[in-house]
Amino acid sequence: MRATFANIYMGNLRNNIEQVRNQLNPGVKLCIPVKADAYGHGAVPVAHMAVECGADYLAVAAVSEGVELRKAGITIPILVLSLPQPSEFIEIIENHLAPSLCDSELIRMLNVTATAMGRKIPVHLKVDTGMGRIGCSPDEAADLAQLIANSQGVSLDGVFTHFAVSDSLLPADVAYTKKQIETFTQVVDTIRQLGIEPGLCHAANSSAVFEYPESHFDMVRPGLVIYGYYPGDITESYLNGGSSKVKAPVHLKPLMDVRSSIVAIKQVKKGESISYGRQWVAQEDCQVGVIPAGYGDGLLRRYGENLEVTINGKPYPVCGRICMDQCMIYLGVDSKVSRWDEVIIFGPAEHGALQSAQDIASKAGTISYEITCGIAQRVPRVYKDE
Ligand SMILES: *Cc1c(COP(=O)(O)O)cnc(C)c1O
Repeated sequence: MRATFANIYMGNLRNNIEQVRNQLNPGVKLCIPVKADAYGHGAVPVAHMAVECGADYLAVAAVSEGVELRKAGITIPILVLSLPQPSEFIEIIENHLAPSLCDSELIRMLNVTATAMGRKIPVHLKVDTGMGRIGCSPDEAADLAQLIANSQGVSLDGVFTHFAVSDSLLPADVAYTKKQIETFTQVVDTIRQLGIEPGLCHAANSSAVFEYPESHFDMVRPGLVIYGYYPGDITESYLNGGSSKVKAPVHLKPLMDVRSSIVAIKQVKKGESISYGRQWVAQEDCQVGVIPAGYGDGLLRRYGENLEVTINGKPYPVCGRICMDQCMIYLGVDSKVSRWDEVIIFGPAEHGALQSAQDIASKAGTISYEITCGIAQRVPRVYKDE
């Protein structure tokens, strides 16, 4: 196997799903987003474990992602969160996927295709209560629900919305989220008043699962927390600090670590430079290690020296620019590091990493989602039961 690989700790996935379940009232369903290859962790193995842990639904972004899960033998309902293309309708129907729809044009088109195939397709009506992405306006929702209810080839399986700032504790953002919840509640009430059964009503992403229990409705859709990271202001210390609304203490465990190996150690003389652009110059005679991992593996160039890897329990920074397939590690002047020593690029502390994906994200001005989604396909994933 390649020197650079990722461990995926499935025991941590079980832990995180349980931590989420502890927050839900009995009967509330759990939909686990496995889009973007399960945020980089591998959609098929994560989906199988999610099913084993009692997930009621899975969510994907693209129809092709849903098809991959069906081919792998997943039989529970799969919601497609992004809008489908009309050219994907047949695949949706044949693979029993539940698309999100939010306009009369797509509803009518899908109805025509499904009716011609003698099928009735479950759909979820997406309402935009303030995210500003896809979704009908709250005023149109009841008419669209009616259109779905009156169409022979589609049935209303759910109504849902998505929050824009539920991970922020700023008072204005809290007020905004509360307003989204209120708008969504009104939409659902209006649909019911028309005598239409809305199906599963759902809204909560990761942060809302913990911070807005009133947004759980019939089902929740937490992604990030399932993979072991805390969303925005909803940190571990906040959740367990008494000021939040959690029912039980929360301890999430990241699923992924990325490891590599020192494949060469160079003696570098004072004044010599390392890597493209010659931006790093040795201030004294020292040692530099090479690891076969670079931005082609998902270690973004802009992480630069913010990336501190762990070798034998000690932190060492990247030196010089990260290349496509390799990067260099400053080992200091009197290094105890040996060739072939294992390097942990990031991962959970429990497995020896001094830096987490969240730490790298904070230093690089991004979010942990981007770090794990960015780990490339060519990095083999090794699934562990721990
Ligand atoms: C990605 C996504 C989620 C999950 O969001 P997290 O922040 O990862 O919990 C839920 N709903 C929709 C519509 C999404 O696109």
